[in-house]
Amino acid sequence: MSEIQGGCRCGAVRYALALDALPRTYACHCRDCQTWSGSAFSQQTFLPEAALSVSGPSVVYEMTYPSGRISTQQMCGVCHTRIYNSNSARPGVVIVRAGTLDRSDELDVVAHIWVKRKQPWLTLPEGVPAWPEGAPPGELMRALMPR
Ligand SMILES: [Zn+2]
Ligand SMILES: [Zn+2]
Repeated sequence: MSEIQGGCRCGAVRYALALDALPRTYACHCRDCQTWSGSAFSQQTFLPEAALSVSGPSVVYEMTYPSGRISTQQMCGVCHTRIYNSNSARPGVVIVRAGTLDRSDELDVVAHIWVKRKQPWLTLPEGVPAWPEGAPPGELMRALMPR
């Protein structure tokens, strides 16, 4: 089993990532992420769906955007920790909530999006890519690629 593992708050859901190293992560400061996480921002990473294996009970919440895109959110079926989501606009890609990783204390945040919604007390470090809204296509993926 991969060294890179994570899980929900209650322990019923566990997952492993087929990666050689911890993924690089980004922070999204949008209002939806603040509401959804109950926090200042969400910290997450993109992965190929095939790199993620999950065990344990899950519940799914599907949300359809006005554009017709469908966001599928996967949560622990017991404690409802949100583990990852996928989006019909990006088949084959999952977005994992990085705070659910066992080694979340070792993660780097290499980009910030939706900083126009950032909470005012939070100061971002210099030199880290940041965009007022979503990043232009491809740029966020590029920032997340291992160097
Ligand atoms: Zn749980
Ligand atoms: Zn967001």
